[in-house]
Amino acid sequence: MIPLQEIQTDVLVIGAGISGLRAGLSARCAGASVLIVSKGAAASPGVIGFNAPVGPDDSVQSFFEDTFKGSIELANPALVRLLTENAAAAAVGMESLGLRLDRMRDGAWHLQKALGCSHPRLLHQENRTARVGMAALKRALAKGGAITRRDIFVVELLTTREGVMSGALAVDVRERKILFIRAGAVILASGGGGGIYAGGTYPKSLTGDGYALAFRAGAELVDMEFVQFEPCHCVYPKRLGLSTTLFAHGGRLVNARNERFVLKQYPAGEGAAPKDALARLVALEIRAGLGTEHGGVWCDLTDIPKKFITEGHSAYYRLFLKHGIDLTKQRFEVGPAAHTFLGGVAINTRCESTVPGLFAAGEVAGGVHGANRIGGNAGTEIHVFGAIAGANAAAHAKSRGARTLRDAARRAEKLAASLSAKGRSGRWNVFSKSIRELMTSKVGVARDEAELHEALGKLKKIGDEAAGVECENSLENFVGQIEIQNMARVGACVAEAALRRRESRGVHYRCDYPKRDDAHWKKNIYLRQIDGRMRVSSRKKGASA
Ligand SMILES: Cc1cc2nc3c(=O)[nH]c(=O)nc-3n(C[C@H](O)[C@H](O)[C@H](O)COP(=O)(O)OP(=O)(O)OC[C@H]3O[C@@H](n4cnc5c(N)ncnc54)[C@H](O)[C@@H]3O)c2cc1C
Repeated sequence: MIPLQEIQTDVLVIGAGISGLRAGLSARCAGASVLIVSKGAAASPGVIGFNAPVGPDDSVQSFFEDTFKGSIELANPALVRLLTENAAAAAVGMESLGLRLDRMRDGAWHLQKALGCSHPRLLHQENRTARVGMAALKRALAKGGAITRRDIFVVELLTTREGVMSGALAVDVRERKILFIRAGAVILASGGGGGIYAGGTYPKSLTGDGYALAFRAGAELVDMEFVQFEPCHCVYPKRLGLSTTLFAHGGRLVNARNERFVLKQYPAGEGAAPKDALARLVALEIRAGLGTEHGGVWCDLTDIPKKFITEGHSAYYRLFLKHGIDLTKQRFEVGPAAHTFLGGVAINTRCESTVPGLFAAGEVAGGVHGANRIGGNAGTEIHVFGAIAGANAAAHAKSRGARTLRDAARRAEKLAASLSAKGRSGRWNVFSKSIRELMTSKVGVARDEAELHEALGKLKKIGDEAAGVECENSLENFVGQIEIQNMARVGACVAEAALRRRESRGVHYRCDYPKRDDAHWKKNIYLRQIDGRMRVSSRKKGASA
């Protein structure tokens, strides 16, 4: 038996990346008591900057048009409107908390131009924007009296019999307790699912739990087929990130036959290809058997002026050198790496999901980016929608208060009584490795019908096997088992949506349907659990269920 702790709060925020911190602060400022819990690592510290239309010739309209066009016309226009209209205020808000965004001599903000943007609009504090911003948010939260707890793994969302979101069941992994949290409103800010792929850019612990939690609670998911890949990560001798901007300065990609395959579609060179196209071309070359020994293609930067690498990109230069690669002298193997999930929990302009009382913000939410994302917009999304979710969740919580949840309380008691604090952990990493390899090989950058069916069959098998493992009733096994089931569930959501979309659009490429098909597919794909089964449907954007 392990201890059970009951907690009551107005607003429970799941996730302590920027969207969670921003949501918590906004709810606290609206007078709600706030508890922010997080399981472990977040993607947010990696954010270099975020977009706001504050440049001299820029405008909200131009930002809107870039974002909507960038989404291949699949984003929810109402959400894009909110994103673009509130971005500048988000920047001002962060500065008032202590983030000092870089400015030029005349006092105007220093702006960079991110991929897909018609104007420079990426605000930043050197390349530490997120780290400094998160520290500022944490200070404000502590000062305001919000409670933040780490090493808390949320395993289930709790609804009343009428289906209203009312809290969560969680495991305090460090203090070895079960937490039964009753809340007037719950905000999912649990980030993406890059951790269900092998060799992605995300921390492995980001296994898409939020999608699985929301799905099991009956919330609708949208655009799950759109997973963005970074095109060129070093695959050997170690997985290392690389900036694609280097291709604009003379970087080249060649296949095992020494052919510059990108030139067939982009005669001006690799630097002219957008990220999604580059990822696709690299993946297709590897699929065609023209890859290198370790599953990549060759990347050659030796034509780039040496100083540009050793001084202009010194961090990359040093990192690669540490692993035995001199970027100025030798070529190395690169391949695509899973990055951002563009879809997620379907939300309205108040960040409400389809389950009353359940809000979502940040990468776990869907609808803002459609089929592709312009650079720097995830950074804006987490600030803008975090703030909106927090304010609306606080208002919702105040209007209804916390519920008793007798059934869930009994379940929590039973669970705490059945688990032991000690015991050996099962071999959950064997399951997670299989899922990651399967997702990368069958539900990766380029997919086809047969592969997606195969992936769905295998994911079900892995999920069922993990659920059926007989193991000691320890806390570790309980958490491990749920995490694997979440990974399998989220993988199935991506595969089901990818199977349904019989065209190629943005970051979703079907080898068997390689063309964009506006006549049939200018619409979004929605997933929902009904009577224990996944229901897949498609609707034109903006249409209600
Ligand atoms: C290396 C890298 C660089 C990037 N650079 C940029 C950039 O420059 N510009 C840009 O726009 N975007 C960038 N992105 C994308 C961007 O970082 C993410 O989309 C964004 O940070 C997501 O923020 P979030 O708050 O929604 O989630 P995250 O920051 O990922 O936070 C998720 C939180 O949820 C918690 N959590 C998850 N599951 C559970 C659970 N079951 N129980 C409890 N807690 C849970 C996690 O522990 C974490 O605290 C980058 C991503 C990476 C990986």
